[in-house]
Amino acid sequence: MAQITREHIWKRMEELHTELYHTGKNYCSSIVGGKNGNYDECYYSIKNIIPKDKNENKILNYATIMIMVMSKDKTPVNFCKGEFTCSLIYRKGDDYYSEYLFITKRDTPYLFPEEIICKKYQIIPSAENQKKVRISIENRVNSYKKRDFEKKNRCVTFEDAEKLDDYSVNTTYFDIYGEDIELQRCKYVEGKKVNELTKEQKIELSNYITKKQRPVLLYKSPSDSKLLVNEIPEFQPASYKELCDILLNNKEECSYCKCNMTLLNEIYSETSLTFDAIISLYGHRKDNITICCSLCNSKKTFNNKLDI
Ligand SMILES: [Zn+2]
Repeated sequence: MAQITREHIWKRMEELHTELYHTGKNYCSSIVGGKNGNYDECYYSIKNIIPKDKNENKILNYATIMIMVMSKDKTPVNFCKGEFTCSLIYRKGDDYYSEYLFITKRDTPYLFPEEIICKKYQIIPSAENQKKVRISIENRVNSYKKRDFEKKNRCVTFEDAEKLDDYSVNTTYFDIYGEDIELQRCKYVEGKKVNELTKEQKIELSNYITKKQRPVLLYKSPSDSKLLVNEIPEFQPASYKELCDILLNNKEECSYCKCNMTLLNEIYSETSLTFDAIISLYGHRKDNITICCSLCNSKKTFNNKLDI
């Protein structure tokens, strides 16, 4: 079994602390337990907890770690990060069975990201609007997951593309306006299968993919095409929290045209906020996202057609 180090324990405690912080709640719980017979291991359980919710296990884990780090003289253990403190207080007990109190304290009430996002985008932060913000972000998380998954399934490396007999190189579909000069240089391989290409032609396509960070289309039929890449990108669509962080850490203006963006539009608006995957091929990974207006996003999508 791998050795559990002080760093592991510390890291776990920090993780639990952050998770409890983001519940926005305060907890009060009594923890009981101790040595089980002659064994050295100690077991603890929760006797009472307010409020009772799905975080019971996290609190028990957290309190157990605090019991481990508590000194022999039973001085209370306080762990404070920012405005949130978790404490463990020894109540009573002996060598075999003890009772502790686990409590949390907040210097200021927790602000839910949905509330801050509402305020930032000048939406009344009512419960209903906060819910709308949440649903809107959740929908995007799900849609990016789906799109990235589909994109990943379409990606094919040169090695695997050798075996594809039904797909041929298409240099026009991703360049409908004829603006991609580098891609046009590869036009002489149009209609060829990857296994028909010479070594030099493959190098040329591969260099194009590296330079432009865009795949080359291998076309079979209108609904069936592949994306030729040098290597399959690591798709890791952003999580709910990551999208919230992007909204909170960026100005509410489009990163391309600098217009002021709006959130929660009932009908289509050119200034609606969208999350743009900067390099389309890499999908909605948190380090590949910028926020921009619908208009700028649509121009980009129509140009490279990668998201269609
Ligand atoms: Zn814009």
